[in-house]
Amino acid sequence: MSLRPASASDLLIDGKLTPGTGGVFDIVNPATEEVIGQAADATADDMDAAIAAARHAFDTTSWSRDAGFRAHCLRQLRDALLRHTDELRELTVAEVGCPVFLTHGPQLEGPINDLGYFADLAEKYTWTHDLGEAKPMGIKNTREVRKEAVGVVGAITPWNFPHQINFAKIGPALAAGCTVVLKPAPDTPWCAALVGKVIAEETDFPPGVVNIVTSSDHALGAQLSTDPRVDIVSFTGSTATGKKVMASAAESLKKVFLELGGKSAFIVLDDADLASAVSMAAFAVVTHAGQGCAITTRLVVPREKLSEATALARDSMSGFAAADPADPGTICGPVISARQRERVESYIELAQTEGGTIEVGGDRPADKDRGFFVSPTLISGLDNSSRTAQEEIFGPVLVILPHDGDDDAIRIANDSPYGLSGAVWGTDRARINRVVDGVRTGTMSINGGIWYSADVPFGGYKQSGIGREMGVAGFEEYLETKAIAEPA
Ligand code: NAD
Repeated sequence: MSLRPASASDLLIDGKLTPGTGGVFDIVNPATEEVIGQAADATADDMDAAIAAARHAFDTTSWSRDAGFRAHCLRQLRDALLRHTDELRELTVAEVGCPVFLTHGPQLEGPINDLGYFADLAEKYTWTHDLGEAKPMGIKNTREVRKEAVGVVGAITPWNFPHQINFAKIGPALAAGCTVVLKPAPDTPWCAALVGKVIAEETDFPPGVVNIVTSSDHALGAQLSTDPRVDIVSFTGSTATGKKVMASAAESLKKVFLELGGKSAFIVLDDADLASAVSMAAFAVVTHAGQGCAITTRLVVPREKLSEATALARDSMSGFAAADPADPGTICGPVISARQRERVESYIELAQTEGGTIEVGGDRPADKDRGFFVSPTLISGLDNSSRTAQEEIFGPVLVILPHDGDDDAIRIANDSPYGLSGAVWGTDRARINRVVDGVRTGTMSINGGIWYSADVPFGGYKQSGIGREMGVAGFEEYLETKAIAEPA
């Protein structure tokens, strides 16, 4: 079976593949600017039907009480998607513009396999805890705590790692016994819609348990956040939109789970192997053209090594030209859209207005007359208080900043509204540990350590979010707690 739709992709509502009542919208390949197909354009009525279907499936079926069946459906979905991996890889590279090498990991195969982790969790999780007997108010009682599914999940996702983020929401939410309405970003509808097709045609998920609603209209995300039939909104995207989601959710006091932006620091200590550290920082920021919320975009180096580090970073970054994402050797592809390229370019301009120096890049690659490419860009000469160092750019742009010792490096890392990720590079264990303890972020990498994995909770401090995705903590976001007592 081919996943590629003959015309436009469909919505998945109440178990049926249906066209959007708003018609279709174009999908553009960011590397070529060609229209590669159309997606169903849902309206508020379609979203309303999807929410009703998810509510009905949660309230009237045994889905939330049958962990074994849920595990079966999730494994079935994983196995079906694995059968389609090659086709999904090609479509993902075309739609997202992501380098194909990433589809062997977090851009496709990793998240598909992670569905198995969540299926295992559904079966192995301890759903009840016996608290034993107690005598509140002098009367002996047995007490128990039960974990139960929250209910209907409104999942809203961005375009940068669509499979990873879609599956990191629907995987644990479904394993926990919730039903889901997924609204993907307008830039990457196919990544979600094609999964909907596989769910409808190749799995036993009951109607209404998973609903997938693609739309060109951001207002459908707001609708999902506001509707009182939705019990929890699970959002990944920018901090600005996250604040709007939280405000919309307040009216019906639904739970919110937010994975937001970042401006993470890569701290190099003065005893580090400078060349290795800097080349890792350069590699990180050019990967997928810097379109990763956890990418370390501030390189913080010892002041006395600033010129040496700048020269090393300049060399490394000029070795990663922005190139065709379908080429297996490409690390830096295009950014997602013309709008996103304008945003990145406006920050490069701002950096210069703020007094920064463009050490390398700062322009569009000369060999590309099509595609939303930005050359890997290194900026020096700025202070951490500059907007360039404070705001999320979401492009292949690295700002290099000097520090005056370990405490100053920690201060700089924390001098940010965000707290998503970070890295430290050094040799003295005690000093590394002090930095790890001091930096207020949800993840830290030591000397190139990779924390990304299904069992590792991921999320942010401060304005990088509320809650954790992945791991047991990510699964528990979709659970409620019920306490039960009975006279003994
Ligand atoms: P975005 O905030 O513009 O959009 C994200 C999603 O929200 C889209 O599906 C969009 O349609 C929807 N949306 C827009 N307005 C809405 C509203 N008022 N109410 C509800 N939903 C609404 O983000 P983006 O540009 O698609 O993605 C890039 C951003 O995502 C970056 O800031 C990046 O840091 C962040 N991100 C965070 C993580 C994380 O895990 N922390 C992961 C990936 C991306």
